Amino acid sequence: MIILKKPDDIHKYLKTTSDQGALSGFVPTMGALHKGHISLIETARQNSAIVIASIFINPTQFNDPKDFELYPRTIENDIYMLEKAGCDLLFIPNVEDLYPAGTQVVEHYDLGYLETVLDGKYRPGHFQGVCQVVSRLINVVKPDMLYLGQKDYQQCMVIKRLLILMGAKTEIVICPTLREANGLAMSSRNMRLSQVEKENATGIHTALIYIKEHIVYTALKNIKDKVGEILAKHNLVLDYIEIADAETLELLEELQNQKQVVALIAAYMGEVRLIDNMVITT
Ligand code: AMP
Repeated sequence: MIILKKPDDIHKYLKTTSDQGALSGFVPTMGALHKGHISLIETARQNSAIVIASIFINPTQFNDPKDFELYPRTIENDIYMLEKAGCDLLFIPNVEDLYPAGTQVVEHYDLGYLETVLDGKYRPGHFQGVCQVVSRLINVVKPDMLYLGQKDYQQCMVIKRLLILMGAKTEIVICPTLREANGLAMSSRNMRLSQVEKENATGIHTALIYIKEHIVYTALKNIKDKVGEILAKHNLVLDYIEIADAETLELLEELQNQKQVVALIAAYMGEVRLIDNMVITT
């Protein structure tokens, strides 16, 4: 695996491969890699001649400075995991490489409704930051395919919109959420949890399963009340629980004629904010 830090070096390297017609697959990450990230690399490996990953903890997407400061950093192990998974190229830029004019004056993207709900509402500015970094990474890497995790459901929709706004030809591939055996969605932030907290954090998955099993014949309000109880029992402090149309992310008070809905939960375990979701066919 080749490791490069400078956008110009990435351009030079990828120019030779794209001249040869090799399809490229890109997996952007913030590092502290786990098997969920690696599953994206493996899927990219199956579909693309050149697999590229990036590790960059993007300062502009953290609405909470403490969250940025405490974000796990495990670069040596990340490199080992990527190499083992067959990644060809790793891009590790510095802040100045991606934000040569600094992080204060940055572009604004019209994300419309998507930015007014769920993490858009609860983490002001977060999705602008995501777009700022993803647009920069896409402009450097210019991948044919972009591999994203369903774990960040709303982020996938935001990035879909970003690619339209950018007029980029990159195609998105959404990969399923990898979970621990006990149901907890894998996340870099889990590294900040104690063993007991990790066990309690499975309450989010338990709540999603409850929703799946009851959604067709129980009023959504009652479901949300019950979810609140399940989370509280697991020492989780709720940010939001919403049921939304899986295609538009329109929040639902009642089921209408949706073929698929998505249940989305954000909750705190101590100081660590966790998100998870489940797509449900009704
Ligand atoms: P992050 O490093 O958290 O920014 O995540 C980088 C990519 O990995 C994003 O597309 C995430 O959605 C994806 N990802 C994170 N956790 C998981 C997981 N448990 N299963 C599958 N993909 C994941």
